[in-house]
This record gives sequence, C-alpha cells and structure tokens, in this order.
Amino acid sequence: MKRMFARASFRKTAIRLTLDALYFTGAFRMLRERCGGVGIILTLHHVRPARQDAFQPNRSLEITPEFLEAVILEFRRQGLEFIGLDEMHRRLCEGCFSNRFVCITFDDGYRDNLEYAYPILRQHRIPFAIFVASDFADWRGHLWWRTLESVASANDRVTIMVEGSPRTFACRSVAEKIATVRAVHQIMSGLTHEAEVRTFAELAAMMAIDTVADCSAACMSWKELSRLAADPLVTIGAHTVSHPHLRKLAPEAARREMEAGAARVESMLGVRPRHFAYPFGDASAVGLREFAYAAELGFRTALTTRPGVLSAGDRNHLTSLPRISVNGDYQRLRHLRVLEAGAATLAWNGVRRLKRAPAR
Ligand SMILES: [Zn+2]
Repeated sequence: MKRMFARASFRKTAIRLTLDALYFTGAFRMLRERCGGVGIILTLHHVRPARQDAFQPNRSLEITPEFLEAVILEFRRQGLEFIGLDEMHRRLCEGCFSNRFVCITFDDGYRDNLEYAYPILRQHRIPFAIFVASDFADWRGHLWWRTLESVASANDRVTIMVEGSPRTFACRSVAEKIATVRAVHQIMSGLTHEAEVRTFAELAAMMAIDTVADCSAACMSWKELSRLAADPLVTIGAHTVSHPHLRKLAPEAARREMEAGAARVESMLGVRPRHFAYPFGDASAVGLREFAYAAELGFRTALTTRPGVLSAGDRNHLTSLPRISVNGDYQRLRHLRVLEAGAATLAWNGVRRLKRAPAR
C-alpha cells in the first residue's frame, strides 16, 4: 500500500517535472511549432472554490473558478479562438485551420458547472459543452468515487466485499487513506462491470451512504440543465446512462448505454445530442468497438480522455478525438501552456505508456 502511494506521488511529481522542464527551457515553443496541431479540447469536471482538506483523492477532477478564468484569459492572450463543438466539427471536416482553437467541455453534469463556471463563461462569451450521464441527471446515478472518498475520509478502517470476500484496508492517516483509494481503484479495474456495481452498492449500504442524496447534491437536475441548454453558448452532449467502463460491457449493453443515454437527453431537453464523451475515456475504458458505435449512432464527434492536441488528420478520427485534462493536480498556467503546445501525450507517455488506438 505504501509503495502504491509512493508510486502515485512519484508519477505526479515526474509529470510536473517534465512539464516544468519543457516550460523553463522554452522547449515548449519549439514543440508548439512541430506538435501544436490545429486546436485543443479541454476536459473539465468540477469548478468550485478550493478546499483545504488534506485528503482529496478526487482533486484532479476539480479546479477553482479563478483558475478557469485565468485559463480563459491566457488562451485569449495567446490568440486562441474559443469555439463550440459543432464549429470544431465543421473546421475539422472542411480543413479550416487559419486560427488555432480551443473547445471547453465538462463531463458528467455537476451543479458547480452552473454555479461557478457558467457565470465566468457567459461573461467572456465562451461556448462550452456539458456531457450528461442521464442517470446522474435523474439523480439515480452512483458516483462511486465520491462514495469511496467519503468512506475513506470518515473511517480508520474500510472493508469492501470483493466478489463475496471481505478486503480490509487501514485508513488512519492521509497517506493510508490515499493508498486505500488507489488500491480499491486497482481492484475495481480487474472486476467485471456487474461485480464493480455490486461492490460499491454493498459498500454504500454497509456505510449507510445515501447515494441518491449524494447524486442530487452533486449533479444538475434536468430543469437546471434545460436552463443551460437554452443558452446558444451551450452544447449538451451524451455521456451514457450509468457512466460505465464501456469496454467491460458486452457489445449490445455497451451500445445500449451509448444510445439510451442520448435518447434520454433528447426526451428531457428536446434536442438530440450531436456529440458524445466516453465515460473515463482512457484506453482501459474505451476502444475501437466504441469508436465504431459512436459513428453508427450518428454522433458528429466522440471524445476520449486520451491526452493530445487535435491535428488536421483527426477528420478521419472524429469518434476518437483526444482531449487535454484541466487537472486540479496541475493548476498552473505554465503547465497548461506546455500541454496546449502539444506536450500532453509526451508528458504522460514519458511516465506511463498509454495504449493508443491503432487507428490513430
Ligand atoms: Zn464522466
């Protein structure tokens, strides 16, 4: 466990050092000329005021409103053009690349997007997209990563049932709590979708966590989403029904998740989503099968979380587009400048080899 914690913090430090090295040596400018591509898509999750808790295992998923505004001002200063996903799709298809562009996307549909991000984006007239997992907006989703955070935060020991067998983890110190979260993530990655769902349902029940209350506290309702959807700056995209690792599902179940999520958004908001984002979105969660489903289901674009900038050739990979995560662990403008220059893949691959889609 301690080794796992040390490895994770080593990885973060290594990524930070790589980004810093590229920035302070000025190498990122050269990189931008060669690898900067035609534009970028940013991935965000939560935008909310900073918290002081020492234990924040999901911190990578949140940035502050101040940082969001700083990012906007920085990209404007650099001359990048903020555009929506439909316009990005048009430019990729028609090969219009006179200006480098940036698209802002939010995954999952959190309420803080409306409370904290929207006022900033509206003030600066920035188009953006929100990818909604329909169970989250129906307030019946299980945000298991939050369950895990609450349980590890409030207890000195955590027991989870893994396929009928109890596994107990020490959670006394912050380091132990973080190691527990990482260990559980690791165990989950080896389970089937059904076993994963069962494990977290049992954990929530055992710890008396009200997952419905948690979901409604964190996620926007359809009513709130429809307020956003009425603004021409906003694109609502699909993000499945229950937010599964699609790759773990049988073919028909994976396709149904993708199709039914979009259908639910259409029935509640009156507009068929034209864009899709894969839950989790990395190589462990999504592959060629899902890229093909997204095309068959008629999405104009489908976005992964594989790090990278967009290139002109992405017109041939519209359902496997890369994004750059605006990650709470790297809330420095200099890091984002380096990532935007095309270093995202390099920085991450330098530390952990990512499986890449053969089509790209
Ligand atoms: Zn998501």
